[in-house]
Amino acid sequence: MALVTQAYRFALDPTPRQRRALASHCGAARVAYNWGLRLVKLRLEQRRLDSTVEVPWTLPTLRREWNRAKQEVAPWWAENSKEAYSSGLDGLARALKGFSDSKAGRRKGRPVGFPHTKRKGRCRDACRFTTGQIKVLADRRHVQLPRIGVLKTHESTRKLARRLEKDTARILAATISRTADRWFVSFTVEVQRAIPTRTGKPTVIGVDVGVRHLATLSTGATIANPRALQRSLRKLRRLNREVARRKPKSRRRKQTRRRLARVYAHAANLRRDALHKLTTTLATDHGIVVVEQLNLTGMLRNRHLARVLSDSGLAELRRQLTYKTAWYGSQLILADRFYPSSKTCSACGWVKAKLTLAERTFSCKSCGLVLDRDLNAARNLAKLAEHVAQSGWETKNARGADVRPGLAGLTA
Ligand SMILES: [Zn+2]
Repeated sequence: MALVTQAYRFALDPTPRQRRALASHCGAARVAYNWGLRLVKLRLEQRRLDSTVEVPWTLPTLRREWNRAKQEVAPWWAENSKEAYSSGLDGLARALKGFSDSKAGRRKGRPVGFPHTKRKGRCRDACRFTTGQIKVLADRRHVQLPRIGVLKTHESTRKLARRLEKDTARILAATISRTADRWFVSFTVEVQRAIPTRTGKPTVIGVDVGVRHLATLSTGATIANPRALQRSLRKLRRLNREVARRKPKSRRRKQTRRRLARVYAHAANLRRDALHKLTTTLATDHGIVVVEQLNLTGMLRNRHLARVLSDSGLAELRRQLTYKTAWYGSQLILADRFYPSSKTCSACGWVKAKLTLAERTFSCKSCGLVLDRDLNAARNLAKLAEHVAQSGWETKNARGADVRPGLAGLTA
């Protein structure tokens, strides 16, 4: 048995009054975050003149300052649970830590900048509760949160309720959030899970995520997008063009953007569900799963809808595989983001100089292989695992590590 932290997310059906309460709590979190950020900036200024000035940088210090000032800054503070303000300040403390860790070189990945002010309507509406009445009610259709009270869930909570009843799970926190017009609650739960141990030579599978198909596997199987997703993707393309045609700042543009956000959220849900089915099969049926690593800087620069969609799908696939491979005792290998999985010939290793997104088939100038682009990429990813295996992964667990093979013995 192993203790794992896991999230259970449920859509809510709040009453109009509860909707206001949910929005109010998220607003309160934002106010506390912005207030704290202003204070930090002010103290940093003051410290330049007087080195004894203390700058609140952690949650306890920020909370102390907030409790001293709240009566003046937010006389209405008692309308929301104190957890709302704490949640905003916690977000700020994390952002500040990310910034200082990144500056000191203690943090991997992209450099993290100094936190920005959160703007209403532009930032994510969310608020986290860690103490107080957080419950999943026995009827499996309701949840209880501090101050907001009993909320109806849109779907059954049975998966979590069952674990809670059997005492194999403990709720650590609940986060409310809004996506387009829909409210969600996500429970962070500590769960006892039995992790199976695997014996024998593990089977390897490479996965390439796309837009036309949900995914292509190195075995040659393609997983189609669900029909409903295909439909919303078409709708998304149309609405995107429509937004572009609308006059900036016009009422119509706002309306279209709201519709676009709804369709986008719907498409993301459909994709997430389909990916859940896929990742469970991958993690249970195979010993090693290889996926590409996300190219974050490239993602930000590329404005093509297709690219953005396949990158968000890849991010979700990776997120799910990371914890599912751990649950099912399999292994996840992330190909280095500079590994040219699409441009390399999976038969002979020849590397094509340029491959545009529009080119759907890969044709090798060296050995004459003609293959579907995504399948070629998936096969290259699977090959990567073999390379890692040869360099002795059995003794060293490569889970979560970047793997760059330097194209083992392959030359153009
Ligand atoms: Zn070739």
